[in-house]
Amino acid sequence: MKVFIQTYGCQMNKLDSNLVANSFVQAGFQLENSPDSADIVLINTCSVRQHAEKRVLSLLGYISHQKKSRPEIIVAVFGCMAQRLKSELLSHEAVNIVCGPIQIPQLVNLVNKAIDNTTKQAVFSTDIRDLSQQQTELLDDFETSYDSAEEHLPAQAFVRVMHGCNNFCSYCIVPYVRGPEVSRPPDKIISQIQRLADTGVKQVTLLGQTVNSYCYKGFSFAELLYEVSKIDGIEWIKFVTCYPKKFDEKIFSAMADLPKICRYLHIPAQSGSDKVLKAMNRGYTCDEYLNIIETARQVVPDISIAGDFIVGFGGETEEDFQKSIELIEKARYKNCFIFKYSPRPGTRADDKIPDDIPMEVKKQRNTELLGVQEKISSELNKNFIGKTVKVLIEGTSKKAHLASGEETNHPQLIGRTAGDYIVVFNGPQNLAGQFSDVKITKTSPLTLFGELTAG
Ligand code: SF4
Repeated sequence: MKVFIQTYGCQMNKLDSNLVANSFVQAGFQLENSPDSADIVLINTCSVRQHAEKRVLSLLGYISHQKKSRPEIIVAVFGCMAQRLKSELLSHEAVNIVCGPIQIPQLVNLVNKAIDNTTKQAVFSTDIRDLSQQQTELLDDFETSYDSAEEHLPAQAFVRVMHGCNNFCSYCIVPYVRGPEVSRPPDKIISQIQRLADTGVKQVTLLGQTVNSYCYKGFSFAELLYEVSKIDGIEWIKFVTCYPKKFDEKIFSAMADLPKICRYLHIPAQSGSDKVLKAMNRGYTCDEYLNIIETARQVVPDISIAGDFIVGFGGETEEDFQKSIELIEKARYKNCFIFKYSPRPGTRADDKIPDDIPMEVKKQRNTELLGVQEKISSELNKNFIGKTVKVLIEGTSKKAHLASGEETNHPQLIGRTAGDYIVVFNGPQNLAGQFSDVKITKTSPLTLFGELTAG
């Protein structure tokens, strides 16, 4: 039978979908590129923003329509929205199966049961804060049984080092749907990465909601970096996302000591106002955040830093917003992800903090902050002109125009530096998954353009 998987949300969800896809292929199913020709539609959902949930509902509406002529289609909704809405989602006419993010190892069985039986099924955690040892072990086995290099990113793999989050930022749904922090045993992570390296993976990205909090029986994230760095075949190691509280500076020492650790840090600030940070329950002040960045730059001078901001959080005054602009100017991020606040049902902010910033103001602040960041990115990127950078080539670029503006027989390729800068250049397609040197000739705020100097 043919399975189509649609994924919404973050890198964690993409990783889950990759594992689920591999588990279905190993169980004898065939992957399909469109819901229109699939027998089974799996939807991996995100609850972080309302927009992501709306997209799931819109896809379900489309499938309801399809089901009128093909009622046998089986639809399973899994991931964060499934855990948040539980049985409510099951009452949707298109849905056959609802499965929480912790229960994804059961998806193949649930679908097989649905093939034999028309009864709707739901599996999720009744108390997500109370994960059993057995559940975490099952997830761990699932991770190591069905991992693989990324289909669309040759020679790259994502490896989860921890699940869940303990921080309870007041606006965030993640701790309620992904559960508490659970770090995976280091020996399992190491053997998994060794196996991936043996299949040709050259870059591994270690994933966690707060990856710097990784700790397994006293074994820290910095120690894990030293161990992963010893793995033959792995040339670049990246990690996301870091949380700016109780940041272990040994992580920076590891980045400075170990040439395989990419000098890239994604560390969301969310606001430049201490008042807003407190309301967000982020647990640090703006000065403490800046101190972490300053230490990072002292210990790892060529580190590139990316940030995240939320604009229009409840109670954010113009003065608070100006402080976010000041923080962006001080931090001089390589790039910044900026989001308009959207309250999520079930979070403390939704319950206690009125969403009192009009959408127009949120949009205006979003545009203004993006403009400030764009100017900084543009200045930083210009420093690359004339320099040669090493990139890991991801494949062909989606944009058709040529990097240099000159006619060439080669397609436009896209690669990333160790500092996570996007580089576009022309070259043979079979370089995807290889490292190459590119001389930068031109820049835009988001991209470096150049010419291949070595393959
Ligand atoms: S650190 Fe905060 S924003 Fe990030 S996942 Fe945890 S609760 Fe959500």
